[in-house]
Amino acid sequence: MKLYSPSTINELKKRHGFRLSKSLGQNFLTDKNIIDTIIEKSNIGEKDLVIEIGPGIGVLTAAAAEEAGKVIAIEIDRNLIPILKETLREYDNIEIINSDVLKTDLKEILEQNREIRGQKTGGIKLLGNLPYYITTPIIMKILEDRVPADSITIMLQKEVADRIKSAPGSRTYGALSVAVQYYCTVAHVANAPKELFVPQPKVDSTVIRLDIRKEKPVQLNSEEAFFAVVKAGFGQRRKTLLNALTGIYGLTKDEVAAVMAAAGIDSVRRAETLSLEEFAALANTIRSYN
Ligand code: SAM
Repeated sequence: MKLYSPSTINELKKRHGFRLSKSLGQNFLTDKNIIDTIIEKSNIGEKDLVIEIGPGIGVLTAAAAEEAGKVIAIEIDRNLIPILKETLREYDNIEIINSDVLKTDLKEILEQNREIRGQKTGGIKLLGNLPYYITTPIIMKILEDRVPADSITIMLQKEVADRIKSAPGSRTYGALSVAVQYYCTVAHVANAPKELFVPQPKVDSTVIRLDIRKEKPVQLNSEEAFFAVVKAGFGQRRKTLLNALTGIYGLTKDEVAAVMAAAGIDSVRRAETLSLEEFAALANTIRSYN
């Protein structure tokens, strides 16, 4: 069965009386090339465990199962479960879980899957083509919870992918770029124009792979201070850092100026020009100041 074919999607919908849910972001991939590229660039090894978020009718799930030791697919829509059971029935290495990924304990799932068929599980690869409105919360939840995965290969609204990838000085560089780049290195996988989906969404997508860093790129005295500085700095993008940071931890403008001088950062600079290292220097100095 060609799961990526629009006629298969229609036939399954009819036979199972399935209605697509707009609110669950159900736009299914119908392009074999992009499916192959996503799977290839996910670097899935034969001993790996893949956790797929939002399998839909199972196009990526089936392709991932060809490469992986095991695939666990987490799908929120219970109406898709009978369809998935049918489309994936040939595979004995796929487990389908009917739940909301935001309420699912991924660490617990990994804990229960330390072995695949009696052998130590290799890498942990996360995969997902998700509704746009939950992509950022899911990425941040996985990173902040420190789910011990190697990578997350994910389809995103192009504009959000641009924000995640962008470098200091760019218009799209912001708190999301700094947060994701603190935890991961970011690789571009593929462009996915809206024509590749059924039904067609309003915007184009991009697939990126986040390789989770084994070691942090900067030394921090306090992660909490780092994220507080990033949040305050970008909270008022148009302001200079001196103004944007005044009030943080109860510091006066003069005290913030002193912190910035001690961190070696010119007080007229704006958050969007600061590198990870400079945010770290600022956070470490602020932390020792209050
Ligand atoms: N992976 C399929 C594909 O590429 O064709 C389907 C992608 S579709 C954009 C998103 C899928 O995520 C849908 O099947 C939807 O029901 C599911 N989904 C939406 N919110 C979810 C959540 N919170 N937890 C798990 N799955 C979710």
